[in-house]
Amino acid sequence: MLVNVNGNLVAKEKATISVFDHGVLYGDGVFEGIRAYNGRVFRLNQHLDRLYDSAKAILLEPPLSKDAMRAEILRTLTANGLKDAYIRPVLTRGEGDLGLSPYMCRKPTFFIIADKINLYPEATYRDGLALITVPARRNVAEALSPKIKSLNYLNNILAKIEAAQRGALEAILMTFDGYVAECTADNLFIIRKGKLLTPPTWQGALEGVTREAVLELARKRRLAAAEEPITRYDVYTADEAFMTGTAAEIVPVVSLDGRSIGTGKPGEVTKRLIGDFKALTLKDGVPIPAAGKPQAGKKKA
Ligand code: PMP
Repeated sequence: MLVNVNGNLVAKEKATISVFDHGVLYGDGVFEGIRAYNGRVFRLNQHLDRLYDSAKAILLEPPLSKDAMRAEILRTLTANGLKDAYIRPVLTRGEGDLGLSPYMCRKPTFFIIADKINLYPEATYRDGLALITVPARRNVAEALSPKIKSLNYLNNILAKIEAAQRGALEAILMTFDGYVAECTADNLFIIRKGKLLTPPTWQGALEGVTREAVLELARKRRLAAAEEPITRYDVYTADEAFMTGTAAEIVPVVSLDGRSIGTGKPGEVTKRLIGDFKALTLKDGVPIPAAGKPQAGKKKA
């Protein structure tokens, strides 16, 4: 496997960054999780927009333009001969000293990993996932905007640990005032009387690219959909529920805190949306150039 470190494609074992990088010392950086299906990168531009908006929000000036980053991502996929992949671009503040100040870091670091990801066993997609609510709360939006996909995932990781300690694969994080925010790395939807509901991002959910795609698919199916605050009561009494995320895709949710949601089986609307989403991932996307072909935006050696 070749990893792209600051524009150099190096073997996985040689892909390293400095221990003085503030991405490591302080989690000072931003990242993305992107998927390629059958030779096409799904919603690449939306992911790049979120990456560059996240960087802007923390005043991190990327060392390469968005177009150059797009070309580097495609080049990394081509170099690894990947058609189906999970892609992880990371931008960090770069190497500095032991003080917190980002102004001591001369140049941001970037790296891109292209690999496979398999979050849940096949049975989860067939039978559905059991969620629990955990004590860890979603970061308060006023303290650190949840729209920033930063290298600080500790509250999500703590929630994941709390779920595992109770034998659950996944958890719902609540907001500080008791509303459903999202899962540890996925957005949540419920369906009530044929209407899709998902919490608004101002309450603490990440603006998920898959979430947006599902809202579009719902509109195409003429299903009513709204971004509304959701409580645990709403989830307990919903007809169906599912999670969305780039790595997880659409995962049916069949219970919360041991209480069955709807029939306790993946719902019909959820299954239809899973089918629609699969079809969308195959036709929507930026093509990965074949090896040996010159790429737009790539500097000549
Ligand atoms: N919420 C969080 C906290 C996430 O990290 C992610 C990304 N894995 C999502 C939601 C889902 O977003 P997307 O559909 O863009 O992957």
